[in-house]
Amino acid sequence: MSRAALREWRDRGPTSRKRLSSCPRCQPDTDLDSLAYAYLLGSYLGDGCISELRRGVFSLRVTCCLDYPGIIMETGDAMQAVHPHGRVSTADAPGCLNVVAYWKHWPCLFPQHGPGRKHTRPIVLAPWQREIVEQHTGRFLRGLFHSDGCRFTNWTEKTVAGARRRYEYPRYMFTNRSTDILALCGWALDLLDIDWRMANARNLSVARRAAVAALDRHVGPKS
Ligand SMILES: [Zn+2]
Repeated sequence: MSRAALREWRDRGPTSRKRLSSCPRCQPDTDLDSLAYAYLLGSYLGDGCISELRRGVFSLRVTCCLDYPGIIMETGDAMQAVHPHGRVSTADAPGCLNVVAYWKHWPCLFPQHGPGRKHTRPIVLAPWQREIVEQHTGRFLRGLFHSDGCRFTNWTEKTVAGARRRYEYPRYMFTNRSTDILALCGWALDLLDIDWRMANARNLSVARRAAVAALDRHVGPKS
């Protein structure tokens, strides 16, 4: 993957220390890149974690699979857009890569932050977060499916007019242990009229041809 591109975030660095604390929630005149935020919210709910460090600083970490450098870049870009004066970096972890940025205001932007794992506590979006998801539903779903989803192809063979033919059926699966996060995924799919069902307690499936085609416009194969 492109280490040079990753260095770009690192080298960019904070442009103005004075504005480091600019937070769209604490200072309403500060712009929030809501398109990037919708994606980052999906990524955070899927595979993200906020931890409190020293002196009131928090880290936002999104764990990405090394197989998909495009998703790593997109995650880093979204984090940088949401926190333009911060410094986005990456940290190696076994079999994956964490995209990380530090900020005192991550809990303002992700009020879902709390003690324990996400599936052990209620995950409810604030009204302003719901508005952003309603506005940029496709980006939110893209973040969710990029972090905790997959697109795979089932196939079957049929005999048509005496000839064996192979038919492929792409489908999506979103997997999460939190029933609240699964419900948010379903809600967002409903907003776009994309048909889905629960395959089992932890897996949400999008399998109908029209539904897969609709989700392809926002997510598509991972890269
Ligand atoms: Zn704040």
